[in-house]
Amino acid sequence: MRDNDWTKILGWPGYRVYRTEIDEGAKALKLWVRRKSGNQKVVCSSCGRRVSEICEVYEREVRDLACFEYQTTVVLELYRVRCPQCGVKTEKVEQLPSKAPFSKRFEEAVGQACESAAARQVAKRMGLAASTARAIDLRYLERWSAGRRKPALRQMGVDEIYLGKKQKFMTVVSNLETVEPLWMGPERKKETLDEFFRTQLRERQRREIEAICVDMWKPYRLSLEQWAPQGRIIYDKFHVLQHAQQAVDEVRRAEFFRQGGRKRKLVKGKRWLLLSRGVNLDTGQKRQLNQLFRLNRRVMKAYLLKESLDRLWNYRYEGAMLRYLQSWVDQLRWQRLQPFEKLAGMLLDHLEGILNYCRTKVPLGVVQAVNGNIKSLLRRGRGYKNLRYLLLKAQRMAVTKTEFITLQKAA
Ligand SMILES: [Zn+2]
Repeated sequence: MRDNDWTKILGWPGYRVYRTEIDEGAKALKLWVRRKSGNQKVVCSSCGRRVSEICEVYEREVRDLACFEYQTTVVLELYRVRCPQCGVKTEKVEQLPSKAPFSKRFEEAVGQACESAAARQVAKRMGLAASTARAIDLRYLERWSAGRRKPALRQMGVDEIYLGKKQKFMTVVSNLETVEPLWMGPERKKETLDEFFRTQLRERQRREIEAICVDMWKPYRLSLEQWAPQGRIIYDKFHVLQHAQQAVDEVRRAEFFRQGGRKRKLVKGKRWLLLSRGVNLDTGQKRQLNQLFRLNRRVMKAYLLKESLDRLWNYRYEGAMLRYLQSWVDQLRWQRLQPFEKLAGMLLDHLEGILNYCRTKVPLGVVQAVNGNIKSLLRRGRGYKNLRYLLLKAQRMAVTKTEFITLQKAA
């Protein structure tokens, strides 16, 4: 085959193949390329300006996409240039996006593969170390992120994600309109959220925030009042119901802790039944739940209270919502369900923010969807010690896998 044919097959605009080497045993192909004579424009890699003074010619080897069964390496002739602005720099080449020994399209192939498979698996398939595949994926995502327009933040979500006993919590800020996470930070303190406002938004952008969906958690509220006082705080359904689930769980534990071995065995493993929504259960599961209720009326009452609180968000008018909440609180009288009394107190303390749901329309379930995506990423892959990587991954997921989010929304 002639070099000219290899030039066509390689398809790097402005470059031609002038030497090839085929190693049949190792199934390796090596192509040496240099600029075509018509390609005279040399650009400084640091500032992007056109430069004319060339100091040195050197070679760089990068891995490119495989050619049939042959792993392909491209040896590229490059210039070191003297830029009037930056001094001696390497020239900018479209196909070499970083200092790593890979071509741009090779990195893109790895990044795309990492969207549907774990980096570990992609690495194995491509004959790379897992850490290399992750580094490539991160660069791929950074380039994607740098090249996209960031929509304004008008409806903001603030959420905490529990990472486990050691790292405890992290805070996630998301854009509820675009359904994507914007920022992640360790812990869930006021300082955590302060950090987001300080480093991620300009004054003008902070003033554009209209509504914020958030948990009834004082440190967050304090930060929001300081940085986005015009934003309406909404204690959304997802977060409020999380507290209701916790209350059910507390009642369950208190009730069955005192019970003897046989009853305790019956209760074992039923926790999630109590915490899931009744409408999502099948007949068998409902039967199990009823067995549980026959053992303990108080657990049943707690469950029903949680289920009926769910209907609070069926109301579109403040007055109706308030009346429903009042009647819900009234049901607690004489029940002596302490965790629910605590919850009722909390709801009344945060009444404005709960009723704000009727005043500002925010998409329900988005917070939950973003949260769910991040959790599924954390479950699927280790190696998210780098929060930046996790964030970019979750953003990319939000943009490419919209069907997953709509599914969650419907639930
Ligand atoms: Zn320069």
